[in-house]
Amino acid sequence: MAEHERQHIRVAVIGSGFGGLGAAVRLRREGITDFVVLERADSVGGTWRDNTYPGCACDVPSYLYSFSFAPNPAWPRSFSGQPHIRAYMEHVTDTFGLRPHLRFNSEVQQLRWDAERLHWEVTTSGGDYTADVVVSAAGPLADPRVPEVPGLDSFPGRVFHSARWDHDYDLRGKRVAVIGTGASAIQIVPGIQPEVSRLTLFQRTPPWVLPRFDRPVSAAERWLHTRLPATAALRRGVLWGIRELQVSNFTRHPERMRVVEKLALSHLHKAVKDPVLRARLTPGYRLGCKRILLSSDYYPALARPNVDLVASELAEVRGSTLVAADGTEAEADAIVFGTGFRVTDLPIAQRVTGVDGRTLAEAWKDGMAALRGTSAAGFPNFLTVIGPNTALGNSSMILIIESQLNYLADFMRQLDTLGGKAALDARPSAVNAWNRHVQRRMERTVWSTGCRSWYLDANGRNTTVWPGTTAEFRRGTRQVDLAEYQVLRPPRAPRRAVPATAAEAAR
Ligand code: NAP
Repeated sequence: MAEHERQHIRVAVIGSGFGGLGAAVRLRREGITDFVVLERADSVGGTWRDNTYPGCACDVPSYLYSFSFAPNPAWPRSFSGQPHIRAYMEHVTDTFGLRPHLRFNSEVQQLRWDAERLHWEVTTSGGDYTADVVVSAAGPLADPRVPEVPGLDSFPGRVFHSARWDHDYDLRGKRVAVIGTGASAIQIVPGIQPEVSRLTLFQRTPPWVLPRFDRPVSAAERWLHTRLPATAALRRGVLWGIRELQVSNFTRHPERMRVVEKLALSHLHKAVKDPVLRARLTPGYRLGCKRILLSSDYYPALARPNVDLVASELAEVRGSTLVAADGTEAEADAIVFGTGFRVTDLPIAQRVTGVDGRTLAEAWKDGMAALRGTSAAGFPNFLTVIGPNTALGNSSMILIIESQLNYLADFMRQLDTLGGKAALDARPSAVNAWNRHVQRRMERTVWSTGCRSWYLDANGRNTTVWPGTTAEFRRGTRQVDLAEYQVLRPPRAPRRAVPATAAEAAR
């Protein structure tokens, strides 16, 4: 498309999940209103819009899983369900006047850095832009991963992923196979078990599961938090502090997890009396290596007579027969894939082309890396929210997002301070130094104790989790250190020689 047909904006934000909405609020707070939020769907909410499966809820308490600048004193439960979180995100959108910035049905198809003009060419399904700065908040839990199972095409029934729930399909009385035992599947199983005639769960690896102490927030608590906002802040502070104190168990003393493993095993023993089933549900790796799951109704659902646990991965589909790697066969009318997301091979990375014509996917082919989890070398004025090594094993991602928003705000201020047309490109040496520091710390963590998880990429490297406290990350992202960046200026136009004499000018 010709340049003149592109609208120029200062900032293009990709995605309207917690990261994108937070970035929009932060930009407005900085006095920046010349920005758009590009959203491929037709409403806000990101993963909390896409995941509508039965039982979908957050396993981080509501008073911590919300923006610090938009407290909600009226959370109905200690752990919120998806509808309440989504409603909260709509509320934030309205409260902070974000609607005029939203561009729905605008899927980013290509982002190309223009080294002459120092801006990004942004091509979307809903219109094209040029932007000085791009904030990618597309999120790591956005694109479903469905394993390539031989014969799946031949399956005559319904097939869908947990994040693309088919609400038109009535599961009542059906034989349903659920694939996977991650955070999504363990909520789906108790959510659908009472309705289906038979539920077959394909478990590749048993997860560690702790009880979830969910309860309604009382009217008195809500009254108190509304009247005295400091009490809600205190509650949030306590929830945060407890999780900060747990971090060293994950990052430096995985052996301490044995104590928590005992609690999880007693939770299993209480709910599952059948010793054979119990043995199949007992994990054989250190608790915390994969995400610790919280559920009080998962094990009781598995103990129901209409549920079969196949302790093996789904290996093949033959018509309506599902075949596990260990040879077990099960008949099904529908298959639900709770098999997670494309986290370490982000589809958006294939669409971003940086300074030397390389895509972000190519730059990250040996593993994702970004300075302070935000800036990749060779991709100027491009910031990723929830970038490499920013995910948490035990606390609220919104704490990380808000730290990255501080960094974004300072990034914008630095560009202003530099004046004129300028761009900041993370120095490869700074990215490498940051990454070495992160990977060195990773060695001692529970995530490196030997298990397969979505935290690890194809090379077995953990390029997703932050190996520290949220306070450390906050300190590390408080401001942009210009020494870690190259300042780019537009290339000078070649000077035209001034003719020395009238005769020369006439030639
Ligand atoms: P996930 O944690 O990546 O789990 C995918 C599951 O699929 C794993 O159990 C995996 O087994 C299994 N799997 C993959 N291929 C398989 C096959 N061929 N046969 C059998 N099993 C197979 O995905 P997720 O459950 O969607 O969760 C992803 C993340 O989303 C979570 O870790 C969490 O961060 C977030 N989430 C959060 C909440 C919340 O409460 N806040 C709820 C849902 C999701 P292996 O274990 O052997 O790899």
